[in-house]
Amino acid sequence: MNTTVKMENKIAPYQMLLDAMETTHELVEKILPETGIPSLKIGLEEIIPVVRKDIEKAREGVPIVGYHFAFQADYLKCFDCVPICLEGVSYFLSTLLINGVEKYYDVIGNWGHPFHTCSAQKGAMGMSLENLYHFDAIITPTAPCDSTCASYPFFKYEKKFPLIIADMPFLHDEKSYEYYAEQLKLSLYSLGEVIGQEPDFDKMRKALEVENEVSKLRMELFDLIKAVPSPIENIFNPIAAASTVFISGAPENISFYSRILEIAKSRYKNNNHHGGEERIRSIWPYMVTFFDISLCEWLDRELGMSVLLDIFNYNLSDPIDTKSDLDTLFYGMARKAMGWPMVKQSTEFYYPFLDDCIRMAKDFSADCFIYTQSIACKQFGGIPQLLREALRDEVGIPMLVIDFDVGDARITSAKAIKDKISMFVQTLL
Ligand code: SF4
Repeated sequence: MNTTVKMENKIAPYQMLLDAMETTHELVEKILPETGIPSLKIGLEEIIPVVRKDIEKAREGVPIVGYHFAFQADYLKCFDCVPICLEGVSYFLSTLLINGVEKYYDVIGNWGHPFHTCSAQKGAMGMSLENLYHFDAIITPTAPCDSTCASYPFFKYEKKFPLIIADMPFLHDEKSYEYYAEQLKLSLYSLGEVIGQEPDFDKMRKALEVENEVSKLRMELFDLIKAVPSPIENIFNPIAAASTVFISGAPENISFYSRILEIAKSRYKNNNHHGGEERIRSIWPYMVTFFDISLCEWLDRELGMSVLLDIFNYNLSDPIDTKSDLDTLFYGMARKAMGWPMVKQSTEFYYPFLDDCIRMAKDFSADCFIYTQSIACKQFGGIPQLLREALRDEVGIPMLVIDFDVGDARITSAKAIKDKISMFVQTLL
């Protein structure tokens, strides 16, 4: 086996993802009409070249750095490395492959990892056990949840991948931001030592500036989503999560949001809804499914239900000050990291989460909430009843709770999810 092939094999799941994205893109191009599902088409067009470039770099021997999605990909731009989001790759493989990555959930389950932990990590753990991944290092914060903290040591102790951990405080206050800023800096220096590189913070500043620009575009888009009917299609939600995972800090992310914004503006001007008619406006404060994103289309087209926001898309952060000194830079990075999707909701107490939900329900004229609950998210488990009462008392809208696993169709099937939503909708119309 020559060296090139060896390097490529260090990230076989990433190559599988690229193949699956290219096939999907081809189908989208050939089968769907021009007006089909624009966010899917645009997302694939912007993401595929970035993943392709990463795979080329991996072939050249550039270090492979695995990271938890709660560690921002653009912060890793201070290195010449191939960043692989452990959760992102397996979840989007669960979207694009028939039967997803269920095989790997079983591999790690049979090895002895508890069934009630998160499929976000279980996919990558099973793949590592099968030697599909060979990371030069892995970096993660101690967030967003106990499931993360209990799963990542597997990579260190079983697979012997160097593991770097940035300690994130639970409370969100000035002292915590300062502490986490220091932790971020230390963790990047530690990562540099492991992969034999000095962090280039000027290079990182440029990636942060790209994301500052993306934040402005997202802000504009959010204002448009407040309109009735919503000018985005439901699939935008999982595709936007993919853009955050795979192209953060790359100019392609600006292009992705600029193109989506243009479509949203045009729909807004013409009062168009992707599904034809918007009958119900829903907010999903947790996740939509990854194992079957056609659910998004079904909601749009069959029920006329818009998914205005899901957990990956309602967190907006202040721009990071990239022009001042390093301490200011890292302080801004820490604030952004602690306000990151799922991190913001899962750390601290639940009051800010309830407040956010009530504010969003009012600002976005929501008719209902749909709360998907996974057995892995222990920290979310106590919230549904409180949120249901808060939404009923403060906004007068109902909430449906669905137990599921976002990546594993065997827990609650797409059909069961559709049946539950169909019944719930009868109570709304
Ligand atoms: S918060 Fe829930 S979904 Fe997110 S990583 Fe933890 S267990 Fe998984």
